[in-house]
Amino acid sequence: MLKITSLFKSYISGKYILKDINFEFTFPKKYVIEGPNGSGKSTLIGIIGGYLNKDSGTIEITQKQQNNIIDTTCINNYIDIVSPYIDYPEELNLKEIVELLYINEKELIPILLTKLQFDAKLKYKNLSSGMKQKFKILTGLISNKPIVIFDEPCIFLDNTGEKWFFEEINKLNKLIIFTESKKLHEDKKITIKKYI
Ligand code: ADP
Ligand code: MG
Repeated sequence: MLKITSLFKSYISGKYILKDINFEFTFPKKYVIEGPNGSGKSTLIGIIGGYLNKDSGTIEITQKQQNNIIDTTCINNYIDIVSPYIDYPEELNLKEIVELLYINEKELIPILLTKLQFDAKLKYKNLSSGMKQKFKILTGLISNKPIVIFDEPCIFLDNTGEKWFFEEINKLNKLIIFTESKKLHEDKKITIKKYI
């Protein structure tokens, strides 16, 4: 379970982007964080992933059947984050990037390379935005962490790519969280809900 309690976050003092967020994500379900641009979806993901500071509140991960709370400094052992804002060295080809990414998990290299829908000799800079996004999604799909979070997975993807993403995550038996930019209400708030 991934539990968020009384989470507050501001970038400018007193102006809260996230205000009293409370939610329990349970394994191995899938959830979507929805909200308009600027509502704080990526901020929330950054806080869960441990690379953004929070003002207050707690993020806890508890393992199945056990009630011991995992030390948040070890959060990287449990969560993989796929974001369109994380990039790879432009001059490397995909094979080289994959070899770098999985230097400590070499068994994942052939798994990713066989799932690649395009030539592994292509330099990263020569991929289209959609191809880059598909490559990043693949790194999440083959992850061996129990929690994978995709920020705006469908950005740059066509309908076929979107369909592929949802089919692939449905096959996974782990906690999946993804975001979707959507104008829901007049107020700029995020909504977290179970994705069927
Ligand atoms: P979303 O992912 O929902 O589009 P973000 O989490 O990226 O939203 O941003 C939420 C709000 O926080 C936006 O108003 C954005 O301008 C602001 N913001 C994000 N990062 C920073 C930052 N480093 N410094 C100041 N404001 C920021
Ligand atoms: Mg965002």
